Amino acid sequence: MSSDQPSTYLFSDTARTAMERFIDRTTLFAFDLDGTLAPIGPDPDAIGIPVTIQKEMITLGGIAGVAVITGRSRSDALQRLSILPRYLIGNHGAEGLPGWESRTQEFIQTVKEWQDQLDELLPSENRRGVFIENKGSTLSVHYRHAADSKAARLMILRAINRLVPQPRLISGIYIENLVPKGAPDKGVALTHLMNQAGCPKGFFVGDDETDEDVFRLENESIFTVRVGRKTGSLARFYLRNQQEIARLLRKTNNILGQFADSSLS
Ligand SMILES: [Mg+2]
Repeated sequence: MSSDQPSTYLFSDTARTAMERFIDRTTLFAFDLDGTLAPIGPDPDAIGIPVTIQKEMITLGGIAGVAVITGRSRSDALQRLSILPRYLIGNHGAEGLPGWESRTQEFIQTVKEWQDQLDELLPSENRRGVFIENKGSTLSVHYRHAADSKAARLMILRAINRLVPQPRLISGIYIENLVPKGAPDKGVALTHLMNQAGCPKGFFVGDDETDEDVFRLENESIFTVRVGRKTGSLARFYLRNQQEIARLLRKTNNILGQFADSSLS
């Protein structure tokens, strides 16, 4: 979709028809985790996938290829998932991509260097409420618990500005995510997985800034859905909220189920 085209509500008649025509069993279904499969709560450590969504995901995984592409590390995501998708990609696309193993070692090394540099650049007396999380292939600096979050963010951005090599920076709510340049983003990850899985089509649902890396591909072979309507998003379709994910999955499983029925008749 081009940026001047508004996105369409997924459960409108036109979008439903588009979805029915698009998806089939050769489609790879990929989902973001926080805010998409799992509702966002006050405590990021306490998120989980609602049972209704888990059940639909298990059904979907039995019929088609399923991927979860998250900003969390894979090990962190595994603790929250309660389902095992065929592909689990962590660190905004930079971890777990088949065929990228040797590059991943470079990313891990870069992140270690950033951590050492940040330990120097962020003196401990100014670091109350600031937490550096080494996630392997990427690094996150959290400042949710800083007394003055504005001042903390400024201090963190100043430090990040001095890092060698410079990261690709993804800002979130009380968090700065540092990604090695050249590391795959979610768009690269999904395209790569579709090739890997032999799936000519992709279906992707997400709600983050990093999910725009998929939406902006404007690839006719990828059906894109954003959780929550947002001006400027390049997703072609949107859901009103995270609760509608269960309905989306039911609808998906119904459509795919009809393919099975018709092949039997
Ligand atoms: Mg999200």
